[in-house]
Amino acid sequence: MFCPFCSAQETKVIDSRLVAEGHQVRRRRECVICHERFTTFESAELVMPRVIKRDGSREPFNEDKLRAGLQRALEKRPVSTERVEEVILSLKSALRATGEREVSSEFLGNLIMNALKDLDKVAYVRFASVYRSFEDIREFGEEIARLGD
Ligand SMILES: [Zn+2]
Repeated sequence: MFCPFCSAQETKVIDSRLVAEGHQVRRRRECVICHERFTTFESAELVMPRVIKRDGSREPFNEDKLRAGLQRALEKRPVSTERVEEVILSLKSALRATGEREVSSEFLGNLIMNALKDLDKVAYVRFASVYRSFEDIREFGEEIARLGD
């Protein structure tokens, strides 16, 4: 980037370190022309796809809503907050990795169900029963039976 003092096009990095728990890079730069020093912060642009709801309307991805849904499914389950946050991070990176600008709520729901299946079987069944609104008790039983595999 240009020097903010003299607008020279060449600056050199004199120090570079990870900050914000590795989510940002802090760089000290020095202008090769005027020798002023300045700091830049660099972080990944987190573009999350929007979610297409069943009725066709779109809404921005909402991390708080995701967290609330997971916490509801995990109520009184022996799963630490750290693990939940890890799952949220990995769900977010899976969503970004699609490279899509929009994903269906069904796609998002399936991602969450797969994550819960690994995390906690009871939470998975709770989430799936709400999300998939099983047709009848037999279908629900079959889903639970499959968990034993
Ligand atoms: Zn300069």
